[in-house]
Amino acid sequence: MAALTTHLLTVAEVIAETPDARSIVFDAQLDYRPGQFLTLRVPSDECGSVARCYSLSSSPHTGDRPQVTVKRTADGYASNWVCDNVAPGDTIEVLAPSGVFGPKHYDHDLLLFAGGSGITPIMSIIKSALDQGHREVALVYANRDPRSVIFADRLAELAAAHPGRLTVAHWLESERGIPALADLVDLARPHADHDVYTCGPQPFMTAVTEALTELGVPRERRHMERFVSLAANPFERLEQAAAKAAAKAAAEAKPLETAVVTVQLDGATHTVDWPVGDVLLDVLLDAGIEAPYSCQAASCGSCVYKLVSGDVRMDADDPLSEEEKADGHRLACQSHPLTEKVEIAYE
Ligand SMILES: Cc1cc2nc3c(=O)[nH]c(=O)nc-3n(C[C@H](O)[C@H](O)[C@H](O)COP(=O)(O)OP(=O)(O)OC[C@H]3O[C@@H](n4cnc5c(N)ncnc54)[C@H](O)[C@@H]3O)c2cc1C
Repeated sequence: MAALTTHLLTVAEVIAETPDARSIVFDAQLDYRPGQFLTLRVPSDECGSVARCYSLSSSPHTGDRPQVTVKRTADGYASNWVCDNVAPGDTIEVLAPSGVFGPKHYDHDLLLFAGGSGITPIMSIIKSALDQGHREVALVYANRDPRSVIFADRLAELAAAHPGRLTVAHWLESERGIPALADLVDLARPHADHDVYTCGPQPFMTAVTEALTELGVPRERRHMERFVSLAANPFERLEQAAAKAAAKAAAEAKPLETAVVTVQLDGATHTVDWPVGDVLLDVLLDAGIEAPYSCQAASCGSCVYKLVSGDVRMDADDPLSEEEKADGHRLACQSHPLTEKVEIAYE
């Protein structure tokens, strides 16, 4: 799994798209695919922050600056915070673009269903398909009333600029009520052989799915993006992981003061603390362990032991040959620990 990465993006512009929706335009270069989303970190007095996903409504292919479009959710925390507080010059922490909603190529005709704020990833797909492909794009776009239609003017401009390629069928509940299954079937029927991408409120997506099923559109040509609030906060998980890594690095960087040595001698095992400034022989004798020794000056070799694990350094090692040292032999009267844990044996 790829590691999560965060970016700090500067807000270049905030566009009031409708009374209830704002586009947040970023002054940034982002590598993303049409249909992908950013996860924004939204500050909260209660819990530090919450994380929410917002689809990019810009296209990576048309020279747009990256932007997300946020619609207020009734009684929702983050969407209202973004619409009320974000201003040009602010910085927002985001996770790298993510998601798999959106065509991998533009060789097929597209039928796109959007309901309300569901237009955001669909808008990115429309602009990209018109720019990158040559096929038809048919949009069915449902909204409460004319005031709540996000990107109404931009869609009209695109349709005018691409006659015969982009068709937009608006459905306004204020005029025709919530679209019934039969309405959706009628709207989809002329495009039933297209690849279908749907994003909107759950009841809308359920109804579209039923209509497509009725028309026999196979599952592999139907794609959906669900707008839900994240229950977990990936930013906090990242912070905890970073704090753990920092604590581990600090512990590793701290100079060793006392090691623990485990000694096997005459069939018994002893474990004692070993301050780095003391030689092993003194530590063992002070602990009442009857380790062998004689000169205590690296001359005789009587205190030789075998290093089993961990590492030590010796002040002097004259009596030991290179082969003996390679075999793990060390002198207790000259040894200081280099690792937190050392295991030795007297043979
Ligand atoms: C991939 C993806 C892309 C998305 N793209 C967009 C986009 O482009 N534009 C967009 O506007 N949104 C988008 N969303 C939705 C967005 O992430 C948020 O879910 C949405 O903005 C609502 O968040 P909120 O914090 O405002 O609401 P929340 O505070 O999460 O509340 C959501 C609803 O739940 C209710 N609620 C909250 N807490 C409780 C509780 N304790 N008990 C019962 N009910 C509760 C609220 O009243 C509200 O109706 C996307 C979601 C996903 C997953």
